[in-house]
Amino acid sequence: MKSFIIILFVLLLFNSIPLYSQNSNKSLQITYIANEGFLLKSQTKKVLIDALFNEGYGAFAVPSPETLNNIRDARPPFDSINLYMLSHYHKDHCSSELVYSYLKRNRNIPFVTSKPSLVFINGNCFDFILLKKQFYELTPELNASASKNVNNIPVKAFGLKHLSYYRDSIDMEENMFNTSYLFQMDGINIFHSGDIKINAFKDYIDRNGKWSDPVDVAFLYYGLFDSGTADLAYIIKTINPRYIVFMHVLPKNTEAIAEKVKTLKMQFPNILFLKNSMDSETINL
Ligand SMILES: [Zn+2]
Repeated sequence: MKSFIIILFVLLLFNSIPLYSQNSNKSLQITYIANEGFLLKSQTKKVLIDALFNEGYGAFAVPSPETLNNIRDARPPFDSINLYMLSHYHKDHCSSELVYSYLKRNRNIPFVTSKPSLVFINGNCFDFILLKKQFYELTPELNASASKNVNNIPVKAFGLKHLSYYRDSIDMEENMFNTSYLFQMDGINIFHSGDIKINAFKDYIDRNGKWSDPVDVAFLYYGLFDSGTADLAYIIKTINPRYIVFMHVLPKNTEAIAEKVKTLKMQFPNILFLKNSMDSETINL
């Protein structure tokens, strides 16, 4: 009987090893919604970012009404969301009404964004402030960062300047407050740039010195690669991601960008570019 128990114990021990290593096997399912909107799913967490909008200034990809309804009603795969994040309040990232109705309908979902975005949404939806228990405001100064733990997800927000757009020598985006986020899902470090160009990264590094946070998957505005391989080399040298996901690609430029990605992949193979809304890919880290 004693030896039987020992054998049973040994069997249980060995059986538990693959189970344990399975737990440490980190995978991330990435579902493209539109523009810079994504649903991210790790082993136990789900995060939605920049997904609730229905206008694209006539140029950018927009989620379908069906997808927006599924998100609002928390229908799979949009059930059990742990966090909703917003990089900034441009219309191709944020509809005040959609964000408001989503948070109102899903009272257990925390909302991470900056003060300017909260004020903007509240300006359009008077009752928005009534949901303040769900707000997790992170408003770092320009080229600085701020952190919070939200629903057991560590979030670090970076004040990185929204890309500039000049008319009459005036930066039309001077006052647009963009936040880049670094957050951790089941040990996977995810960076989402929002709308920035390479100068924003360089300004941040100039002020703060060497980048120290590990990045597994970097969701990057495609314009960060305007100069191609040189920009890619800079990104690899600074944040050193294991995967890069291209985002904010105009539908009319899809094929041109796909060609560019093909070239960049010769330098860095782990680049993903999801072209159609609800395209999904799982990566193992
Ligand atoms: Zn923008």
